[in-house]
Amino acid sequence: MFPLIDQIPDLKTLSDARHPLHALLMEIALEEARAAYAEDEVPVGAVIVSWEKGVIARAHNQREQLQDPTAHAEMLAITQAASALQSWRLEGCALYVTLEPCPMCAGAIVQARLPLVVFGAFDSKAGACQSLYSIPQDPRLNHRAMVVGGVREAECQELLRDFFRQRRRSSRTEPEQKLS
Ligand code: ZN
Repeated sequence: MFPLIDQIPDLKTLSDARHPLHALLMEIALEEARAAYAEDEVPVGAVIVSWEKGVIARAHNQREQLQDPTAHAEMLAITQAASALQSWRLEGCALYVTLEPCPMCAGAIVQARLPLVVFGAFDSKAGACQSLYSIPQDPRLNHRAMVVGGVREAECQELLRDFFRQRRRSSRTEPEQKLS
């Protein structure tokens, strides 16, 4: 699905947010986020890469379309990746997501045994990978992931800001939509 990576990168070098691989893979997550925007969904996109198999999942937030509170980009991507690998353990994989995962998605990251999570924008209202909680790094849980935040942060943030600005504007011009 995506040209990859001749060798499995060293996890230690990946702790650097400036690693070129991060910017590259975040671009795919950003494409997904833009697709969400076009579908009038809060623009968050996610990608899961297997260091052996390449990109095995890409998804965007579909909460409105599916009317499903669990249809966050990360949840959909984790399900896709597990199905691609025929395994619930996503060892040897990394999750890239444009917004810091919420508590639900951070819980799923732990459940999936994902070793690496890279996100774009910080979420001061719901972020559970650094901002409000640090669920994937909590030593009391049975699995820990390395978390790298702030990759292409400005672009990820701007997309969200733009979406909400747009939405406020259209709710002003169409007051009846306020009720929905
Ligand atoms: Zn979430």
